[in-house]
Amino acid sequence: MSVDKPVYLDYAATTPTDPAVVEAMLPFLGHEGGFANPASISHAAGRAAHKAVEAARVRIAALVGADAQEIVFTSGATESDNLALKGVMRHLGREGSRLVTSRTEHKAVLDTARALEGEGFRVTRITPDARGRIGVDALREAIGDGAVLVSIMLVNNEIGVIQDLTVLGEVCREKGVLFHVDAAQGAGKLPIDLGALPVDLMSFSGHKLYGPKGIGALYVRRAPQVQLDAMIHGGGHEGGLRSGTLATHQIVGMGRAFEVAGERLAEDAAHSRALTERLYAGLNALGGVEINGPEEGQRVAHVLNLAFDNVISETLLYFLTDVCVSTGSACSSSSRAPSYVLKAIGCSDARARSSLRLSVGRFTTMDEVELAIEHIGAAVTRLREMAPDAVST
Ligand SMILES: *Cc1c(COP(=O)(O)O)cnc(C)c1O
Repeated sequence: MSVDKPVYLDYAATTPTDPAVVEAMLPFLGHEGGFANPASISHAAGRAAHKAVEAARVRIAALVGADAQEIVFTSGATESDNLALKGVMRHLGREGSRLVTSRTEHKAVLDTARALEGEGFRVTRITPDARGRIGVDALREAIGDGAVLVSIMLVNNEIGVIQDLTVLGEVCREKGVLFHVDAAQGAGKLPIDLGALPVDLMSFSGHKLYGPKGIGALYVRRAPQVQLDAMIHGGGHEGGLRSGTLATHQIVGMGRAFEVAGERLAEDAAHSRALTERLYAGLNALGGVEINGPEEGQRVAHVLNLAFDNVISETLLYFLTDVCVSTGSACSSSSRAPSYVLKAIGCSDARARSSLRLSVGRFTTMDEVELAIEHIGAAVTRLREMAPDAVST
């Protein structure tokens, strides 16, 4: 078997746009399209664009059990995380107020937390257990007195660990602190019901869920209303929380993507589960392969992070010309440092440097997985023959 294009196993970095999404977006591009400014509700063309934006807002809210009025459009989950953290901390405004987060968050949260420290806020960072889970006691202790906001992700982008938002959120409620969740990797992969979850703010991204890049949303609870300061000022769009002309085509695309994800949630998850199970079985047969993070049950179906004994993953990537995988998050791959997520769950430098993140999705086929097993297997075997015992994990 041969393929002309490399096997793409990096769905956690970004997903291809679903054809149904492209189809939904096209009518909003071009000079005959629905290009009018959705804020121009004084004329018919503007009202048509406005209607499309509001329909998309309803679809996004529906996937996560929110009210459409609780959805604020942003440029992506990075901006949503920034808006949630900076917006809440600055609104509360007291110098020395404390934010609680974890060491395994996405950089969009960690770097924002660092920036807030520069503004005089304090930050407590929880170390998760060896599987990547954050426990109730660790959270309660971290909140202590004086914390005003907790930010913990639903699904980790490197190891796929799922946090229990119900129990963590209940601790936040009990302590009277707001709870923000980065759900960029969890939305559309796991059922989410914000009507029932004790969560106040939640970040979403379009392109992690077969929508376009450059669009995202922040859920802001209305009852009780979460108060936050805007970061971007202008025309007062999005209830004053995020000014700027709404990107109709992007928003429509994200709306359609979230709608499709809702329809296919169980089917997509079962497909990803079958693929990652086969990937693990195939690669585990090489020997000296271990899963980083949780085993089945506490891990999302589409992410598999593996450590290969006696292999340096950077070198492995160099040999893997026909398979697209990554050694960690795309957002930190410019740095040569071993993954901070793997380090935080207790992996040695050597083990972190021997690890690969494989992530599959809706358009991955079993044939592609077989091909990937073949290619990765051949490269691992070759590297181990070239430099036996070079790395011991
Ligand atoms: C990709 C990702 C982000 C950033 O999302 P963008 O829409 O690309 O800004 C934030 N958090 C997590 C967990 C992600 O996986």
